[in-house]
Amino acid sequence: MPHVTPLRLLVLGAHPDDAEYHAGGLAAVYRQLGHVVKLVSVTDGSSGHHVRPPEEMIGLRRAEAAAAGAVIGATYVTWDFSDGTLQPSLDVRWRIIREIREFRPDLVLTHRTCDYHPDHRAVGQAVQDASYLVTVPNVLREVPALRRDPVVAYLPDLFTRPAPLRPDVVLDVADHLSTIARMLACHRTQLFEWLAYEEDILDTVPADEAGKQDWVEQWVNRHIAPRAERFRGELTKAFGKEQADALKFIELYEISEYARQPTNEQLAGLFPTAVCLR
Ligand SMILES: [Zn+2]
Repeated sequence: MPHVTPLRLLVLGAHPDDAEYHAGGLAAVYRQLGHVVKLVSVTDGSSGHHVRPPEEMIGLRRAEAAAAGAVIGATYVTWDFSDGTLQPSLDVRWRIIREIREFRPDLVLTHRTCDYHPDHRAVGQAVQDASYLVTVPNVLREVPALRRDPVVAYLPDLFTRPAPLRPDVVLDVADHLSTIARMLACHRTQLFEWLAYEEDILDTVPADEAGKQDWVEQWVNRHIAPRAERFRGELTKAFGKEQADALKFIELYEISEYARQPTNEQLAGLFPTAVCLR
């Protein structure tokens, strides 16, 4: 059902490609329904390569991100914090408070602080630190404070220490895999160069464009399928075995306890087409 007032989704990822890798399905659903989506990479992405120097990467990745956003009609920006050295500093916190106050999202998605990458942890921590302060007028006085903080949810991940993600919402993204792949394929320096180098599969990247698109689709399937496997127990408990086994590609989200707490009805509104697990 179309909303009179479009919802506003803000994804705060650490790197250009984090937003669509972790939340491309939900972002696609939002855009299909005419909602507003802004994807942010808090860092400039300058460290994501084995050959190209950082100063070359900044511009390349900004353009790649913009192209990925255009696939679904979303704004996609990269900020200037240096890739690989991010700290949950006051500067980062204030930048995030400013963003949330100015963009006025209904829902913010970000990394958990249990994550392999220090930049991901830093963004997750900075969003936690900003979540309540967006309502405090005397913090960052030059940008008017919000009366109500947005709902904040954590992006899916498979990490377990000290605690695994608690899935509050699950979204079947099987129908959105090709969109996610088309977005990720825009990050050419990543999928076809850096990530392929890191995974030691550079020699499998096809030379032609059509081959590259197929290759990315396979990459996406390979990387997203483990989520459903990891959370099979929770899914079976919620849906029963037959329905759970039919879920092959999913996004799961945990609602942050440090920001606004939605009712289940509000949660259903913020995660269209998803199923609530609580
Ligand atoms: Zn990342």
